[in-house]
Amino acid sequence: MPRVAIGQFMQESHSFTPILCSWEQFQAGHILRGNEIVDKMRGNRVEVAGAIDCAESNGVEFVPTLACNAVSSGHIRADVFESLLSELLARIGAIPALDGLFLALHGAMAAEYGQDASGAVLAAVRDLVGPDVPIVASLDMHANVTAKMVETSDGLIGYHSNPHVDLFETGAKAMQLLIGIMRGEVKPTMALCQLPMIAPADKSVTIASPFREVMEFAISLENQADVLSVCPYWVQPWLDLSDVGCSVVAMTDDDPGLAKDIAKRVADEFWRRRAQFAVELTPLDEAVQRALHAPQGPVILADGADAPSGGASGDSTAILGALLDAGVEKTTLLNIVDARAVAQAIDAGLDNEVTLSVGAWSCDLWQPVEITGVVRQISDGAFRFTGLGYRGREFHRGRTVVLQSGAIYLQIMELPVFQGDTALYTSLGFDPREAHIVMVKTPSAFRPNYGPFAADVIWVDAPGLTSSNLLTFDWKRLPRPCFPFDDIDDWRDAR
Ligand SMILES: [Zn+2]
Repeated sequence: MPRVAIGQFMQESHSFTPILCSWEQFQAGHILRGNEIVDKMRGNRVEVAGAIDCAESNGVEFVPTLACNAVSSGHIRADVFESLLSELLARIGAIPALDGLFLALHGAMAAEYGQDASGAVLAAVRDLVGPDVPIVASLDMHANVTAKMVETSDGLIGYHSNPHVDLFETGAKAMQLLIGIMRGEVKPTMALCQLPMIAPADKSVTIASPFREVMEFAISLENQADVLSVCPYWVQPWLDLSDVGCSVVAMTDDDPGLAKDIAKRVADEFWRRRAQFAVELTPLDEAVQRALHAPQGPVILADGADAPSGGASGDSTAILGALLDAGVEKTTLLNIVDARAVAQAIDAGLDNEVTLSVGAWSCDLWQPVEITGVVRQISDGAFRFTGLGYRGREFHRGRTVVLQSGAIYLQIMELPVFQGDTALYTSLGFDPREAHIVMVKTPSAFRPNYGPFAADVIWVDAPGLTSSNLLTFDWKRLPRPCFPFDDIDDWRDAR
């Protein structure tokens, strides 16, 4: 029976936050070893679960090695990255007679010293197993795909959706490809087109124009004979590396010319829509007034500029401060990350009143806000996503309290957490469907889960580390020319 190793090394890195990704962030995500991986992940809608399911249904023996996944933040501290990579290599190296390797990667991961960490993981694994053991990796659609990643792997398979709802399917597809290679049924060859472009994450959704058309075109090409996979990658846009950019990877069955041709055709479609990727946001005061006076709720206030999924710390006070100033009369669900305020609220105790200064601890883009309220909930902060995307996955936001100040229910948590799922609030006993205003700190991941019941959605223009205003960041390594910083006519001329 063929034997494959299964591993995961995922984190989405942000180059402009001063906070490096440490052990704490991985522990808040997960670090799973051996059979723990199967116990914790089987039944979830994530890549590793899809790979396990596919291996089992194909009669392939699999050996779970190391699975680690941190919440998005800064580049990974060098010692943390090296330690996790060493353990992954040791676990893979200990497997006798290995026939193939599946890795779940994010693809936009950087280590402290500023390198392409996903490429480094693949290169290290390739060195370990040699050229004859196939390696296939799954990637997030926001991956920064580099030449190193293509050269050191046999296949790369990305999500086809954003909001990401096909993690399980992507993992299964990657494992199916790996099994096909091991059986000698396919011989994949990949072509990578890197575009001299980055674009705001807000427009990277595949459920609306203009990127929907690019993704649909890519998927339509997968139906051709000898085409194994076609994936456009948006790239996480706050990644300041020397080889960053949107890209397309096409993979064919032993036809390099066809792979190149398809990658270029999709790159052309991606590139020619670049002017449509500019984001229009609603000014903060206007957004707050529109939400307050909406005839019915819930109104979703999306703060994409403070998105933990993009690496922000979740401590923006912009919307909270504006709502407190404006005066809220109907139920409003908000959240903020502030470990010190959590401790003070817990000290005050359940059902007691306390005055807290919250937020704005990670940077000086906002000011802390003073709020007086009653502590209504104290929780350990662990919860599971229940909606589309990451369904079943356990998340940890550290100790968490809910402070009621009039009609405002402010969730204060110790650690940033993904915000796309209504479980962020329902896990604490608050139903976003019943609220008038609900804030989510993400530009797009909330849409499949909140969209069906939202009366209105307002994308708020607030300052933050995941702002769509990419021109305002202090870029140091980004290769130039690059759209939207430079005017470029034909992407082929730029690099
Ligand atoms: Zn993503």
